[in-house]
Amino acid sequence: MKVVPGQLLGTEEEVMPGANAVLEGSDIVASAVGEAEVKNKVVTVRAQGIPVMVKPGDIVVGRVEAVFEPVALVNLGLDRTKDGRQVTLPGYAVLHASHVRSGFVKNVHDEVKIGDILKARVEEIKREDVGLTIKEKGLGVIIAFCTNCRTKMERRGPDFYCGVCDRVEKRKTAEID
Ligand SMILES: [Zn+2]
Repeated sequence: MKVVPGQLLGTEEEVMPGANAVLEGSDIVASAVGEAEVKNKVVTVRAQGIPVMVKPGDIVVGRVEAVFEPVALVNLGLDRTKDGRQVTLPGYAVLHASHVRSGFVKNVHDEVKIGDILKARVEEIKREDVGLTIKEKGLGVIIAFCTNCRTKMERRGPDFYCGVCDRVEKRKTAEID
């Protein structure tokens, strides 16, 4: 399906946002012109046109792909910048323990888990490396998956709840600075 930025791709109940797809409320919308496809419940948009690199200050949405203490590797989708540009990025961005929340974070893994969807801000770019931060209110894990059964968890107050396992897990969420 050919889509344009802002076009509805589904709801977060149905699919997860992959490359060039972002959450707006509970809707997932395209953030690039291209071909939308759903694979394994992840919707992506194969963008047409020349990708634009991110720059410091950009708000991005990404998925935690791996944790190698003290960093998490985040696969960035694509989002609108403050001035409305589309941005995209190959490879992984890096979230270091020092950019997770205020106070000392010993293990990134205590705050974000593999598979989680994060809203983050580009903190710095050094050579090819893109550094992210979620260390402020409004940024953090927006979708979490149970570490026991991988079910998408519900928000319950400040935490996430798995109805299958009846367990509560903590994350660094938008309410935490
Ligand atoms: Zn579970």
